[in-house]
Amino acid sequence: MKQKISEALENVFILENKKNIIESGIVKKIDVFKDEIRIHISLSHPTMHIKKTLKKDILQAIKYKDVDTKKIRLKIEIKLENTDKKIPGIKNIIAVASGKGGVGKSTIATNIAVSLVKMGFHVGLLDADIYGPSIPLMFNLEEDKVHSSLLQKKNNSYVMNPITSYGVKILSLGFFSKSGQAVVWRGPMATKALRQFVHDTDWGYLDFLIIDLPPGTGDIHLSILQDIPLKGIILVSTPQKIALSDVHRSVGMFRIRSIQVPILGIIENMSFFLEKETQEKKYFFGKNGVKNFSKKMDIFFLGEIPMLQTIREYSDLGIPVVLENDQIRKIFEKITKNIIKKLP
Ligand code: ADP
Repeated sequence: MKQKISEALENVFILENKKNIIESGIVKKIDVFKDEIRIHISLSHPTMHIKKTLKKDILQAIKYKDVDTKKIRLKIEIKLENTDKKIPGIKNIIAVASGKGGVGKSTIATNIAVSLVKMGFHVGLLDADIYGPSIPLMFNLEEDKVHSSLLQKKNNSYVMNPITSYGVKILSLGFFSKSGQAVVWRGPMATKALRQFVHDTDWGYLDFLIIDLPPGTGDIHLSILQDIPLKGIILVSTPQKIALSDVHRSVGMFRIRSIQVPILGIIENMSFFLEKETQEKKYFFGKNGVKNFSKKMDIFFLGEIPMLQTIREYSDLGIPVVLENDQIRKIFEKITKNIIKKLP
């Protein structure tokens, strides 16, 4: 039967491609069960139109081979191929996302990046938060230091050069605006800039490129998700209902069929604070909000981070807190290891 199906698929072509779908290697697997045939196909840009035509053509070709498709169910799964979008030299690209602003997304992206460096990895951090790029502040990168070394001439053309701080190679939209000024890049312009940040930048070899996304679910998210070969998403939320309802929307976006980026897990930030005298845990935003949400949504719980004054103080100083505080270093180390374990 498998042979028969494979022969049938040799008569199916995609638009102008001269090779049939077997020859061009897009048929990844054919599973034949008693009452079901499953065909797995991988396409680089599966538009609705191509998908529909392809399914119709496959069905016809199989019927033509005398397979009774009334008795046997035919399932055609078309997935987005992302191997052709791989960026040479960058092994894993991971995005950090949140539903709302102010939940600690950039703080967490920063400290995960530095934790990875401490584990011996080569790490880049791309600040894609067009609304409030705060990575330069968190790494104490002043404008004048940055401007002189951002562009580099290579083979007669200019390439972008990330700025290294605490061992992390950094690029931020904030490098291109004066402090106190709003970044006016929106829509297509911001998308184009971000594409250049990833593709036309001399990142060198990277084990990890962390992308700090803007909060919420906007056009910029969609273009990053479609353009950049992400290994996965890390979600950050605080435990209260109002933050979780926005994260819910983000989960919806990442799970849209045409996008389907794996969610590696969710981090609960500002889970609790410790009462000074009694050292008792106080659940200011409610207890286990994110943990319960993660169970309901079938998302891995990567860990919790308490609300601590030192975290805020060090981020204001522009020093990644994991370099200065042992308790927090250990928390981030555990979360970072969990992320590595969850990578596909
Ligand atoms: P986002 O990127 O989600 O907008 P930020 O990372 O910029 O949020 O954090 C917002 C503010 O909250 C910063 O001042 C940061 O130092 C502080 N902050 C983040 N996480 C914690 C925490 N666990 N405890 C104390 N302050 C925190």
